[in-house]
Amino acid sequence: MNDLPEDHLLLETSLNQLIQKTDTGFDSDRRLNATDTVSVVDVSLLPQKGTLMAKAKIRGSENKTYDTYIQFQGITYNPPESQDRVTFVSNEQTYAISPIDVGNNNVKVRCTCLDFRFRFAMINSSDGSLYGPRPPIYRPVPGSNRGSANPSKVPGICKHIKTLMDELSSGGLFDTAPKQQPQQAEQEPTITADTAIETPPENNSENNSKLA
Ligand SMILES: [Zn+2]
Repeated sequence: MNDLPEDHLLLETSLNQLIQKTDTGFDSDRRLNATDTVSVVDVSLLPQKGTLMAKAKIRGSENKTYDTYIQFQGITYNPPESQDRVTFVSNEQTYAISPIDVGNNNVKVRCTCLDFRFRFAMINSSDGSLYGPRPPIYRPVPGSNRGSANPSKVPGICKHIKTLMDELSSGGLFDTAPKQQPQQAEQEPTITADTAIETPPENNSENNSKLA
């Protein structure tokens, strides 16, 4: 494996930026809003030091199931008694974090669907927003006149990642408070995570199961 180091670039991207770039690079009505035929099979949340991994099985419109990942960076785990927090359960333990700001917290994403693989994985890798190893460089069949799947070379997300994001949003994981006002600390939604967590495709052996 001669892949470049995972974090060789210092660029960083939030989930909102990825959505905006997908919107500008493509016809977003067809891409990200076509999620009505997509369903969430299961979601698990995996706390790691400074990050939170959301991993899901998402069933697509072709009735295939894809592994979909969003890893949020810059996560601080709060003591349970802290007020400004959301809680979730992972491996039968309860964790508390400050609500995630999808316009600010950087993310790394990945999906096993072909759309993400051929349209986004390589470009997200250059952008610092690919979770896991870079895919091998795709070489078109000689003589093929098929155009690039991503002519504007914008990083982005597939509809499965968008579906996972919507699921996390309705679970109360995200900061929805207006930015100018102090945050309401009333709600404490709890996301119940599936406890079966497999090893992610990245080498995450440190801090894989327990918080430091
Ligand atoms: Zn996908």
